[in-house]
Amino acid sequence: MIKFLDIKAINAPFETAFQEKLATFLEKGWYILGDEVTAFEAEFASYCGSKYCVGVGNGLDAIILTFKAYVELGMLHEGDEIVVPANTYIASILGILHAGLVPVLVEPDPETFNIDPKRIEAKITAKTKGMLIVHLYGQLAAMDAIMEIAYKHDLLIIEDAAQAHGLPFKGSHARTFSFYPGKNLGALGDGGAVVTNDEKLAKTIKSLSNYGSQQKYYNDYLGFNSRLDELQAAFLRIKLPSLATENEKRRAVAKRYLSEIKNDKIVLPFYDGSDNHVFHLFVIRTSKRDELQQYLLENGIQTMIHYPVAPHQQKAMLDYHHLSFPITEQIHDEVLSLPMSSILTEEEITFIVNIINAY
Ligand SMILES: *Cc1c(COP(=O)(O)O)cnc(C)c1O
Repeated sequence: MIKFLDIKAINAPFETAFQEKLATFLEKGWYILGDEVTAFEAEFASYCGSKYCVGVGNGLDAIILTFKAYVELGMLHEGDEIVVPANTYIASILGILHAGLVPVLVEPDPETFNIDPKRIEAKITAKTKGMLIVHLYGQLAAMDAIMEIAYKHDLLIIEDAAQAHGLPFKGSHARTFSFYPGKNLGALGDGGAVVTNDEKLAKTIKSLSNYGSQQKYYNDYLGFNSRLDELQAAFLRIKLPSLATENEKRRAVAKRYLSEIKNDKIVLPFYDGSDNHVFHLFVIRTSKRDELQQYLLENGIQTMIHYPVAPHQQKAMLDYHHLSFPITEQIHDEVLSLPMSSILTEEEITFIVNIINAY
């Protein structure tokens, strides 16, 4: 059986280093916000080509805290509208809602799965104050067109980069990350971060993530407890230097899928061949998705669906059920994610290609 994602095998090469770190960690006895978090923040900021990185508890909190920080700084107010793709993982939308803001959903470009910049301006009102752009499956959204709209309407622009570690940074106000184990840079538990060039924003997020306090027992904001765990930061520091090579391997897997899969029943994803894609997922489309998934499983290939139900049709999103996003809905009915990771072997890729071509 070829697993969809074998995280244990991905982490295996780092195991000795993890164990050495754990020994040092136990020796030091410093468990929260220590040297490892500080060092990881500096290293990840530098990796992203940005000035500041603030570690937080997870990717959802990274979004919530970023928007909450803008509210504390007086740059956003409760009820402000934030443009967000309709076709995303629900966490993007939850991050906006939990900050007391109003998500305004926009349909994707069916070619790239990412927000369609041509459809954004029709959704902008006097209340629109920002955009949360998602690089879905690891593919850079149409940032040039999006930034132009942001400048024209004076909007904050935040990137949900939870699936996009290692993409080139395009000058947004902030970029949020998740280090959930299955992401391109995954911890051995939960973790997240916000990366920005805005010192005030970074300081406010740091404070909000630690009870709204900058100096112990003095609280400036009604804060949260959402800190990047010291041990997870230590593990992430071990994995970060391999991220670029791993993304390169993911692109190599994708290139083989794209050039070798030949089946009329299957639509392959768009890829321009550049570094603007880190292939968190390799997502194909087909009208009889469940049938194909079953066929692949019977032939020893595990796949996943990202995602089976559109956010606006989820039980949790009752207020949005009356809305219709036909492109998003169709994508949710048709997508199937093939095995994708930096450790797939050439033989496994050949096997997957052959089985799909015989379908
Ligand atoms: C994973 C993910 C998140 C949430 O990250 P967590 O660390 O699981 O909270 C947010 N947005 C997107 C697009 C994601 O893929």
